[in-house]
Amino acid sequence: MATKNEKIALDKIARLGCILCSEVLGIEGSPSELHHVRRFGAKRITSPILPLCPEHHRGNDGLHGLGVKGFERKYEISCEELLERVSQKLGKDDK
Ligand SMILES: [Zn+2]
Ligand SMILES: [Zn+2]
Repeated sequence: MATKNEKIALDKIARLGCILCSEVLGIEGSPSELHHVRRFGAKRITSPILPLCPEHHRGNDGLHGLGVKGFERKYEISCEELLERVSQKLGKDDK
């Protein structure tokens, strides 16, 4: 169950749009789905989230289609790096 604060946070992440499109491919305004990154041994409460468009999330060229390793190789960026970008963008939007 997500708390109200968590929902607000998720909403903000979703509104960033696809992080791969905007940061790596230079395409702004892609829609996004939330992908929960699983870190081995990480506490569930800190489970990080990547906003990805349907193609880059579930498509053949996406994280689930390629697998994490294949995805990172194809786009030459790691999921950790993408998570960094997400938090940078979130920070920027904070007023
Ligand atoms: Zn995308
Ligand atoms: Zn996913």
